[in-house]
Amino acid sequence: MECGEEMAGRQDKRFCSDNCRSTYNYRLNSDSTNFVRSINRILLRNRRILAELNTGGKTRVHRDKLLEHGFRFGYFTNEFATKSGNVYRFCYDQGYLETENGFFALVVRKAYVE
Ligand SMILES: [Zn+2]
Repeated sequence: MECGEEMAGRQDKRFCSDNCRSTYNYRLNSDSTNFVRSINRILLRNRRILAELNTGGKTRVHRDKLLEHGFRFGYFTNEFATKSGNVYRFCYDQGYLETENGFFALVVRKAYVE
């Protein structure tokens, strides 16, 4: 599982050597891996919150409602600025645009945006 070496012998054997086993386990639990995981969790939770609240394909939600659900505004996967200067922020396919008085318009984007 670490080096991709073909292995003979027992079917349930996962590593060719103790060295590969420890390298694999170290990488699995390293700080950078955990850091990436925790950010992925936040992004996925943000996405789920937006998807849950966006019942009609295009919904208006207040900031407090998003915060209530545990939404983290500092985390998003990409931004999209329209020619008119509106900046949409996305968590994967689920996006939001700040409108007025603390409200956000929720949108769903099907095509990938750079
Ligand atoms: Zn190996």
